[in-house]
Amino acid sequence: MEQDEPRDVTAVVFSLVVPVHNEADGLETFHARLRDAADGLGEPYEIIYVNDGSTDGSLEIIRRLQAEDDRIKYIDLSRNFGHQEALTAGYDFARGAAVITLDADGQHPTDVIAELARRWRQGYEVVYTVKKADPNVSALRRLAVRSVYGLIRWLSGMDVTDQADFRLLDRKVVEALRRTRERARFLRGLVRWLGFRQVAVEYEPAPRLAGAPSYTSAKLARMGSAGVFNFSVMPLRCIGLLGGAMAGGAIVYAVVALLCWPFLGGSVLANLVALAVGLTGLVLGSLGLVGEYIGRIYEEAKDRPIYIVREAAGFEAEPAPAERAAEEPVRSARPSEPSQIRLFT
Ligand code: UDP
Ligand code: MG
Repeated sequence: MEQDEPRDVTAVVFSLVVPVHNEADGLETFHARLRDAADGLGEPYEIIYVNDGSTDGSLEIIRRLQAEDDRIKYIDLSRNFGHQEALTAGYDFARGAAVITLDADGQHPTDVIAELARRWRQGYEVVYTVKKADPNVSALRRLAVRSVYGLIRWLSGMDVTDQADFRLLDRKVVEALRRTRERARFLRGLVRWLGFRQVAVEYEPAPRLAGAPSYTSAKLARMGSAGVFNFSVMPLRCIGLLGGAMAGGAIVYAVVALLCWPFLGGSVLANLVALAVGLTGLVLGSLGLVGEYIGRIYEEAKDRPIYIVREAAGFEAEPAPAERAAEEPVRSARPSEPSQIRLFT
């Protein structure tokens, strides 16, 4: 593991990546906690704030923090790209031997960071967190979230229930993750898919320091569908099977209905109309489902960058453009750094 190898003492060991979208009110309190936790790690670290299109003065606070301490860096995205995209930017710019991501709203307790680091030092390459039941979440939302996780588990066989984007990834894993450039991003699923030695750490979610969550129901639904459609073609298969069974049933039904026509007349016709409507519904539903996948193919085909950076500060050298990650066979965070791992192509 890392501590057994000779190491450049000035090199960053921990990168702490924090996506920020309109968190001005609680940001300074959060930063004080984060810095204390980072200092407690006893190794050189960097803190990277990713400002994801905030409109409330978060960027000004981040700029001030950065001016006071050269371990603090920031990336300002050109607009609001979303939590997963902001995290992706953080992973691209981070250069630590271990990268820890956590939310800026105080819900991911900073005292768990020491535990993440401890597990990493034990040799785990992915230390992910699972949140205990949150008393601050309404029963309805909990039910919605549970159903989304259940659906993901059922369709893709991947259990990411109650996991958070609060995790530590070893450099090897970060480099592997950077090779996945799909647009509709679901990092929990991607990290699970990558493999490596993984271990879970439980944490008690805290209430927000200030403000309201920006994860609207629509965003939750978008992430849930990414969890299902990006990781499973089961819906396509199920609908195909269902369509086949229904078409077979309909043929049998039609034959029986036609044979009975002279005796039953109009009521059979009504049945046939109902059947036609039902089948049309099924076909349209299937088209919508197929469209989900085609839409994703379309998004990938456009090959747009996952995020766009307006400004980055505090970094010694510009990281290789993130949007080219998929084209390059093996990459590290800095163009001058040697590659640390050979990856599949
Ligand atoms: N966030 C972001 N971009 C967004 C929405 C949220 O960078 O479009 C950040 C936000 O500032 C916070 C984290 O992502 O640090 C989680 O967001 P939030 O607290 O709204 O989500 P929840 O707690 O409901 O998961
Ligand atoms: Mg939150």
